[in-house]
Amino acid sequence: MEVFTQQQVSGHKFILAASDNTGCQTVTVYDHTRIYYSSLYAGQSIILENVHTSVKGSSSSRALTLETNNGGRIWNISAMTGWLATKFLSAPVPVKDVVNFDRCVCQAVITQVNSVGSNHTIRVHMSCRSEVDGGSGQFCCQKCGVTHLNEMLNKPGQQKSPSIYWKWQYNLSLELHDSDSSIEACLTDQTAEQLLQTTASQFADHVKNTQEQVLESVLAQECLFGISSIRGRCQIDAICLTS
Ligand SMILES: [Zn+2]
Repeated sequence: MEVFTQQQVSGHKFILAASDNTGCQTVTVYDHTRIYYSSLYAGQSIILENVHTSVKGSSSSRALTLETNNGGRIWNISAMTGWLATKFLSAPVPVKDVVNFDRCVCQAVITQVNSVGSNHTIRVHMSCRSEVDGGSGQFCCQKCGVTHLNEMLNKPGQQKSPSIYWKWQYNLSLELHDSDSSIEACLTDQTAEQLLQTTASQFADHVKNTQEQVLESVLAQECLFGISSIRGRCQIDAICLTS
């Protein structure tokens, strides 16, 4: 079995809380592929495969563990796009009713793309996905209370090396309209990347004008949106273009 330590790059080990109608449980995930940590968002529907239990420490309480190198997998149902296209499965609801559901599908036109904060993209800490404050030569995460040296001190003209401590992430929301109402919903990093057809780090490298052009290119598109609502906030988990 692979050994995970505190020093390893984040994403190897994380804890998620999953609930169904019988209760809520935390699951410790050991992900040697490091694909799950940055792709799971609160409110999404998931299927956990090959979760196992173990007795935690000296207490008799049972801990749930999922290990990807031991057959464990996480299926993110909310982020899958295929079923959106099947109206029989997705049963779209009017935009005005979206807030009444934990998860639903609606068909709508994109009328505006907004930044959630002051910027279209933000730099987030790999460990906690909170925005980091960057300075010259170093950056810090207020949430974790850590400061790292910024290892991206590249000379002009050189390819930037990806950071192991932080990454670019989209910070966007869409205004969605149908025939009689509108709603604002946040994009996940994955749905923003799919919609804009460019990664957050590529987008951040563009000059302001090019960024605006990329954002404008999606206006007036009609799509099916898989939306989850959690703590009064709508989130777009999946997008499928309508033909
Ligand atoms: Zn942090």
